[in-house]
Amino acid sequence: MQTRIVSIQQGLIEAVELIKNGDIVVFPTETVYGLGANAFDGGAVRKIFEAKGRPMDNPLIAHIADISWIDKLAVDVSDCAKAVMNEFMPGPITVILKRSKDVPDEVTAGLDSVGIRFPSHPVARQFIMACGVPLAAPSANTSTKISPTSAQHVFEDMQGRVPLILQGGACEVGIESTIVDMTADIPTILRPGAITQDMLARVLGKVKNYDGQIIVAKAPGMKYKHYAPSCEMVVATSAESASEEYIRQNKKGLATVILAKRDYLEGIDGVFDLIDLGESDEDAMRNIYAAMHEAQNKYDYIVCQDFGQDGLGASIMNRINKASGGKRI
Ligand code: AMP
Ligand code: MG
Repeated sequence: MQTRIVSIQQGLIEAVELIKNGDIVVFPTETVYGLGANAFDGGAVRKIFEAKGRPMDNPLIAHIADISWIDKLAVDVSDCAKAVMNEFMPGPITVILKRSKDVPDEVTAGLDSVGIRFPSHPVARQFIMACGVPLAAPSANTSTKISPTSAQHVFEDMQGRVPLILQGGACEVGIESTIVDMTADIPTILRPGAITQDMLARVLGKVKNYDGQIIVAKAPGMKYKHYAPSCEMVVATSAESASEEYIRQNKKGLATVILAKRDYLEGIDGVFDLIDLGESDEDAMRNIYAAMHEAQNKYDYIVCQDFGQDGLGASIMNRINKASGGKRI
């Protein structure tokens, strides 16, 4: 078998065709290069093990191109697992979830769980999306060899064992994904990676690390978006940027409102929908949640004043930053 390295522009149609015919293709991800096959085709997945010389009792990770694909692979997905996926996907993390019956044993090595990853590399995303099915993939190296972080690494190791390698340049992360088992009582890191135990603890409250230690978040839920209104919200660093953003969003057809203290828009020309937070920071603190409630019921988009970090300003901003997910303009 001849092995070729091709760009996604040159090779996409051929690569998708190979996957549809139950064959294997190497594709780049932000962690390492992967050796992929249709995750729902047990026969195709077996070719991965043959090409790698990998023992069949070592499970593979299913790679998806959209969060909604989780439903094809997993069942009983907990809120904690959803929070982790929302926070870190697409990115260098694999979550272990309870498998759906549609996932063949070749992928899971007969376990009742399945590893799922949503890579961020644009070539991986484009390729998997075009295939229209999740791709089961381990690293694209022969068993016991070093994981490849360039197309050339793959070529040197796997020449003659795989028909096609999609070129994606050097992998930005460079080590395999963090694996976190979300089926355990306490979410457990099975393999450390670029998403660290502290990052996971911040979302989950606590997590068992690779050494079996329980890591508790310094401030639980710090990164979690609490108190969030149901519509989008941004913080404007000045009254001018607030009015500009207001006009921009209105032009897009979004009903927009500014949340600010009474004097905020003084000196700015124009008529704006405004929810008045009062005169002082104390007023604003008292009114902020009510204003968010009112705004989310009537509007599509909220622009909020920046209260700074002095005195009560810092306390108000703590809540506003959570509501806005830290978005500033
Ligand atoms: P690789 O990235 O080539 O090392 O292959 C994927 C790795 O993911 C496996 O070696 C396992 O360590 C891990 N993995 C995949 N699925 C599961 C699962 N259901 N439970 C635990 N670990 C898994
Ligand atoms: Mg590997």
